[in-house]
Amino acid sequence: MEKVILSARTLLAEVASEVIVCVKCPLCKSRKNAVPGEGSIRAKMFFVGEGPGKTEDALGRPFVGSAGKFLEELLGQIGLNRKSMFITNIVKCKPPRNRKPHQLEIQTCTPYLIRQIKIIKPRLIVALGSTAVGYLLPKAGLPFSKITRVHGRSYETSLRGQKVTIFATFHPAAVLRGGQYREEIVADFARLKRELEK
Ligand code: URA
Ligand code: SF4
Repeated sequence: MEKVILSARTLLAEVASEVIVCVKCPLCKSRKNAVPGEGSIRAKMFFVGEGPGKTEDALGRPFVGSAGKFLEELLGQIGLNRKSMFITNIVKCKPPRNRKPHQLEIQTCTPYLIRQIKIIKPRLIVALGSTAVGYLLPKAGLPFSKITRVHGRSYETSLRGQKVTIFATFHPAAVLRGGQYREEIVADFARLKRELEK
């Protein structure tokens, strides 16, 4: 057992060390720090955001700005904390002016995400916002139209041959920005807790 855990840790560190020096897409030019992601190697829940923001870019860590605070609050409300999760993003480098990542950037970067998922083998992948949901559902062979339609739902599926449940919800930063969907995201997290207790 210990051997397996050790090698998973090593594999995860290997992904991170590649991400930190990655120049595979144009986002490398404007980043200060790439943000590989972080969390528990034994995580049952794996959170996927869109891409690093200003604070994340400055610190090289995911969800450490205002969206991160809100995410921690949502987790706290259902009795969880970020330490026992794994948290990362679709693209590992901050897009200029916080624009959405382009399709080519997503395609170039997501092999890192897939490797992280294969190493951690989470039971649940929580996709935060339309970029994450719009990548993960089609990747699992499921249709995606818009986030307002799929939020709060869980999809039992498989990703690259690995059994997993994908849970879709809003992006905490979008909820903070727009002030809309706050009640919905709180309700989604309550559903997430029930899903975890299954
Ligand atoms: N928004 C994201 O999508 N990811 C982060 O890490 C922080 C904010
Ligand atoms: Fe590499 Fe991803 Fe950063 Fe692009 S966004 S440079 S693919 S780590």
